[in-house]
Amino acid sequence: MENTEMKFCQSCCMPMDSEGVLGTNSDGSKSHDYCHYCYENGAFTKEETMDEMIESCVPFVSKGNPYPDEETARKAMQEIFPNLKRWK
Ligand SMILES: [Zn+2]
Repeated sequence: MENTEMKFCQSCCMPMDSEGVLGTNSDGSKSHDYCHYCYENGAFTKEETMDEMIESCVPFVSKGNPYPDEETARKAMQEIFPNLKRWK
């Protein structure tokens, strides 16, 4: 990483706190915008809408980490996701 600032995947908002979670560009270099779940070899691993992405993320962030329940998680992501690069 070129700096120590915490980065988040610009598709699913997962914290990218180590090189290992970074996606890969078509030339094999690491993507600093997207995680490896979302982005491999220069392409998104799955074509989906922002709402579909939010729904698939809800189970992973609603068990108190960081959101207490699914409703809170969904609401928070509906505010955050439109600001991410992929969904702008
Ligand atoms: Zn991602």
